[in-house]
Amino acid sequence: MITVMKFGGTSVGSAEALRRVANIVVNTEGDKVVVVSAMSGVTNFLVALVDESGSDISVVLESFRHKHLAEARQIMDEGSPLYEEFLAEFDRRMKSMEAAISSDRANPYYRDLVVSQGERFSSLMLSFLLRSMGYKSEALTSEDAGIYAVGNPMSGSADLSRTSLGMTLNVKPLLSEGIIPIITGFYGMNDDGAPLTFGRGGSDYSAAVVANAIDANMLEIWTDVDGFMSSDPRIIPGAVKIDEMNFGEAAELAYFGAKVLHPRTIEPVRVKHIPLKVRNSFKPEEPGTLIHHLRKPKGDLLRSVATKTDLSIITISSAEIAYRPAMVAKIVEKIAEIDVIIYSISTSLSTVAFLVHNTDVKDTLRQLNGLGGADIERIDVKNNVALVCAVGDNLLSKCGVSGDIFGAVKEAGANVEMISEGASEVSLNFVVPMGKVVDVVRLLHDRYIGVGQR
Ligand code: ASP
Ligand code: MG
Repeated sequence: MITVMKFGGTSVGSAEALRRVANIVVNTEGDKVVVVSAMSGVTNFLVALVDESGSDISVVLESFRHKHLAEARQIMDEGSPLYEEFLAEFDRRMKSMEAAISSDRANPYYRDLVVSQGERFSSLMLSFLLRSMGYKSEALTSEDAGIYAVGNPMSGSADLSRTSLGMTLNVKPLLSEGIIPIITGFYGMNDDGAPLTFGRGGSDYSAAVVANAIDANMLEIWTDVDGFMSSDPRIIPGAVKIDEMNFGEAAELAYFGAKVLHPRTIEPVRVKHIPLKVRNSFKPEEPGTLIHHLRKPKGDLLRSVATKTDLSIITISSAEIAYRPAMVAKIVEKIAEIDVIIYSISTSLSTVAFLVHNTDVKDTLRQLNGLGGADIERIDVKNNVALVCAVGDNLLSKCGVSGDIFGAVKEAGANVEMISEGASEVSLNFVVPMGKVVDVVRLLHDRYIGVGQR
């Protein structure tokens, strides 16, 4: 039985939090492989360092060192041989971080190299804490573990087959010796062996990749909330925790708004049917949310409502576009060239509409202008809309459900600007003006989810 356990920034953010994590790890049965984020605040600190060139490096390094050692001294006896060993490795990593920061900024992977440094220190601290408690543990960087990545800077994807080989060679042997590996999250190495990150919040994805590559029996994502919620508790005070979901529901919710998991976490475990639990490291007695394949439909109409705000609809009009599929392909290709995420597409005879982030509108329009005007009659933009993602396993099989939902939206006084129904069997996604989104979510939650229902 192998459990891959991932701990986020707040879970490793202080000596006290690290102790809590160490106890969770050692109280877990069977073999465990741990993946960690950087201590909270550390990645933001490194991002700021890259963005504001001209900072005094020695001051920056000193405050980084201080932040970590202040916690490390609370988990090990200063002056003990173990602390000395820790400090030697810590200083070696500080030196290589300094070299990374001072390296060539023109390197396209410079940002990945610098912002991925934090995980090297949190993993070292947790590993030494476990050792100070009498357990065998080893801190492994993604390079040591053999996590491989491909893709553009700051948005890598794992190379699963190479990573699987890496795990077999570098991590599995440790398990058979009873050693608990603590692996850096957030990045893998590219073809040149240099760090390539999986995007902000990417440690969840790292852990799913490790679980896939080592054929784990369970993935546990330990965070600072109780699990997936029926809605955002900041807007819906009666939001409840969801006990159990299937992969499809969780993937839709994570992608369309719920912040609890990095959206890409589901796929690597879904393909191997590895169950995933989201749990709160501050409340280890709570069971969290279980995401797996086998959940019997509960028959609830709606289980969760999430939103994604600050979006825009770009509508392109062109004569009989529906009969010219190559034209739609050309438009999508043009937008994809600049890596803009399209949250939804809908077409009619003479229009095609795209849902993109407000901040991507300008670049998207520039790309579309590059298409040449002959084919395009008009482009309209509607800013400041929000996507509502209503998730429930029974949603589309039940007759009249969308009618009921849209009835409720109308009651909230909102116009539905765009709909994507049927693209996924578990979710109904539609777009409303930003000013109405809270009312819509409240009404749907009160009416179809209510308090205490799961
Ligand atoms: N430390 C990285 C970040 O803040 C990765 C993660 O936390 O998942 O984005
Ligand atoms: Mg996170």
